[in-house]
Amino acid sequence: MTINLEVPKKFDQLIAQAHQAAAEVLRPNSRHYDTAEHERPKELDMLAALIDGMNEGGQMNGAGASGTGSRSSETTNGNGTSADHPGTRNGTNMATLLGLIEMCWGDVGMLLAMPRQGLGQAAIAAVADDEQMKRFGGKWAAMAITEPEAGSDSAAIRTTAVYDEATEEYVLNGEKIYVTSGDRAELIVVWATLDRSAGRGAIKSFVVERDNPGLKLDRLEEKLGIRASDTANFVLTDCRVPKQNLLGSAEIQEAKQGFAGVMKTFDNTRPLVAGMAVGVARACLERTREILAEAGVEIDYDAPPQRQTAAVAEFIAMEADWEAARLLTLQAAWMADNKVPNSLQASMAKAKAGRMGTDVALRCVALCGATGLGEGELLEKWARDAKILDLFEGTQQIQLLIVARQLLGLSSAQLR
Ligand SMILES: Cc1cc2nc3c(=O)[nH]c(=O)nc-3n(C[C@H](O)[C@H](O)[C@H](O)COP(=O)(O)OP(=O)(O)OC[C@H]3O[C@@H](n4cnc5c(N)ncnc54)[C@H](O)[C@@H]3O)c2cc1C
Repeated sequence: MTINLEVPKKFDQLIAQAHQAAAEVLRPNSRHYDTAEHERPKELDMLAALIDGMNEGGQMNGAGASGTGSRSSETTNGNGTSADHPGTRNGTNMATLLGLIEMCWGDVGMLLAMPRQGLGQAAIAAVADDEQMKRFGGKWAAMAITEPEAGSDSAAIRTTAVYDEATEEYVLNGEKIYVTSGDRAELIVVWATLDRSAGRGAIKSFVVERDNPGLKLDRLEEKLGIRASDTANFVLTDCRVPKQNLLGSAEIQEAKQGFAGVMKTFDNTRPLVAGMAVGVARACLERTREILAEAGVEIDYDAPPQRQTAAVAEFIAMEADWEAARLLTLQAAWMADNKVPNSLQASMAKAKAGRMGTDVALRCVALCGATGLGEGELLEKWARDAKILDLFEGTQQIQLLIVARQLLGLSSAQLR
């Protein structure tokens, strides 16, 4: 199979619409919601409704934090192939990624705060049955995996789910921390274990309504960046959910089979987080180019290296790094659309783009000197926002571990 990484023309309209929304709604409100942490960005309600409409019309498959659902329509022609590049499919993953890059050029925190676009919807779409899709599809869903004792090692979670035969409910007990959109979402997809002694195969996801009385908000985090996005910590105390809210099979499976199912969600979502880093880094590069131009420094790609100024050489090197991250990210999303196993590429993209985003943002701040560091510019904010993209959905170190395991053919038990 050949890969053509030119962006298909059919996405031009989607990219233009996402860019317009980013420029007209996200950018102008960016600083306000960074300063007013925990204030809900009301401008996003209208934008989210617009995105819902576009999703229904098949124009823009969720330019939000999620929308990776395998059930959404593919942007292909009748025989399932792309009109631009016959034999390949450019579907939901690519559409979502391209929209996200534009939106994160606008503001990562506000994008993450977009109603109905939470990461939980990706998990729901990946494993929900038809009845569950009817009940939960299209709702704002957050994702609660992390616990005080389980971050990178998500197989170590301690939240338990015990089946109550009398009421046909699962009873959840435990603690969940760092839940993006946890306070504002309608649903929270909670990972819990049916039997802690049975290992990874016993870990299941449960849809919990936000207003469930057994789910108590403990506190909201105050953060370095993405301050427009709420990050919630919860305690689950005898939190009862109907048995129909368990996503996927209730059987305790072979560790590999069961856990691999839940981990598959990450193959779709990691390229999206990588895309967020690509978007914010592009914003940094564009603004830095303008600031350098105002200072009389022109980027001349044709001048030989020995005649470049240090600032220009630095800028061109950053652009090359950005382009490499962008191409890896497009590749990972393209593979997901074409049902080609992409765990390796998804982690490579996330590792590369996560590191590039932080690095480029900080170097842009440095290149612009005091201007870059001041609140008169968004550069300092973007440098703060970029950090999380190298952390959640698996840290830099964890992505490298996954890449190493895949390349060396070693299991998680063999290389930890
Ligand atoms: C703003 C924000 C939003 C978040 N949103 C969500 C969310 O919506 N849902 C959710 O479930 N979680 C969420 N998280 C949690 C996030 O996914 C975790 O913070 C992340 O997985 C890392 O876990 P940890 O913080 O416990 O760090 P740890 O796992 O304790 O890791 C600490 C350090 O050790 C390194 N490390 C760990 N294990 C290894 C290893 N084997 N080899 C090498 N290095 C290693 C890590 O890379 C890291 O640098 C969010 C976090 C933040 C800060």
